[in-house]
Amino acid sequence: MLKNKVAIITGGTRGIGLETVRVFKENNAEVILFGSKEESVLKAVEELKKEGHNVKGYYPNLNNYEEIEKIIKEIVEEYGHIDILINNAGISANKKIEETSSEDFANIMNINVNAIFNMTKAVVPYMKENKGGVILNTSSMVSIYGQPSGVGYPTSKFAVNGITKSLSRELAPFNIRVNAVAPGVTKTDMIANLPEEQIAPLIKSIPLGRIGEPRDIANAFLFLSSDMATYITGNILSVDGAARS
Ligand code: NAD
Repeated sequence: MLKNKVAIITGGTRGIGLETVRVFKENNAEVILFGSKEESVLKAVEELKKEGHNVKGYYPNLNNYEEIEKIIKEIVEEYGHIDILINNAGISANKKIEETSSEDFANIMNINVNAIFNMTKAVVPYMKENKGGVILNTSSMVSIYGQPSGVGYPTSKFAVNGITKSLSRELAPFNIRVNAVAPGVTKTDMIANLPEEQIAPLIKSIPLGRIGEPRDIANAFLFLSSDMATYITGNILSVDGAARS
């Protein structure tokens, strides 16, 4: 489904991002993964190599626009074009507001929102030159109703929806589609530290009766990136077993 497409996936070293790298490789895309540290990028690239997938990895500071711009230029020089950008890197929060510092709040906005702005700004000129492209952001089910703690996280995901909807309108005349996928509770490191007594009722509240697998989300990215979705833009696609609360 993605033959001859070049895709960049941030947060590609584990969880949803790593599974998306796999699914994209299985569908014949060229994939470049971004991670936060050299060590985790090397580990992911090595793991993928053992599975038969060759990918390149980078670990820029996603809050440093100049650094990103330089790497994007390098990627275009090597691959010729960038067709798909998946802005997936993210961190969560669960502290109550009294225990949340303004640094904590700024940090989550920096990674979950400002990084999307930087990556997208750096890639858009090349997509315009190429007369099209796909930008997908990872939102969350909490972007609909919020959550009862860790206010920075839902705030950031509401902003992700805002970037998605606004840029879909700004970039549509250039044949650049912008959508988001809003996962529900998905089996990754992000929820690995939640205690069993928190997980069990969560699963019980999901109408489909199970937690999401990273592949459930990766498949949504695949569909939205593919030519099967050429008339879809400005959407926030819930992939959450109907657990929208
Ligand atoms: P994860 O913790 O397994 O992976 C997070 C990824 O983000 C990692 O690859 C990590 O390298 C990258 N990352 C984190 N901080 C970074 C930084 N400072 N700079 C660069 N990269 C950084 O979690 P995941 O569940 O795979 O999360 C992926 C996305 O899915 C996130 O945006 C998250 O908010 C969203 N999401 C997850 C769930 C869930 O239940 N797991 C639900 C809804 C949305």
